[in-house]
Amino acid sequence: MSTKTPGPRLPEVVQAPSRFRNAIGKFTIRRSSRCQSCGVCAEVCPYGVHTRYDNYSMPLRPRDDLCIGFECRQTDHFCVDLCPEKALTLRLNPILETMGDYRWTPEMLIAHWQMAETGNVPVVDLDYSIGNSGGGFDKMRFKTP
Ligand code: SF4
Ligand code: SF4
Repeated sequence: MSTKTPGPRLPEVVQAPSRFRNAIGKFTIRRSSRCQSCGVCAEVCPYGVHTRYDNYSMPLRPRDDLCIGFECRQTDHFCVDLCPEKALTLRLNPILETMGDYRWTPEMLIAHWQMAETGNVPVVDLDYSIGNSGGGFDKMRFKTP
């Protein structure tokens, strides 16, 4: 008979709503005016980037913060290639260049927003642990007399 005592019960993880109306992601997916609202992208994307409601004729703005980006090219569900109208464009989000600093890089910031909301490490390939400093101090200031 095992005498092992059970470990502490971990709290249940509950997804919190995003504090941002349009969450910032590492990648952007843009849909051009060539879109014919065929719904293929919504069908193929397993991450729910292309939201589409039954009673809406046009797809909604892509939830590109959920997009896994260029690694999706290796799969059989890469929406950019599968769109019959070639209406989709995938890019690294240019806003990343304006965010963060050496320790708290843009990827660290985005990853921590996602982890705070979901309780899980990000699905998207984001550096969420040490940033560019190798994990040292956040910041150090010297006051010289
Ligand atoms: S697959 Fe292309 S044409 Fe069809 S809804 Fe998506 S973006 Fe529009
Ligand atoms: S590139 Fe992949 S993950 Fe991103 S929206 Fe398209 S199918 Fe979804």
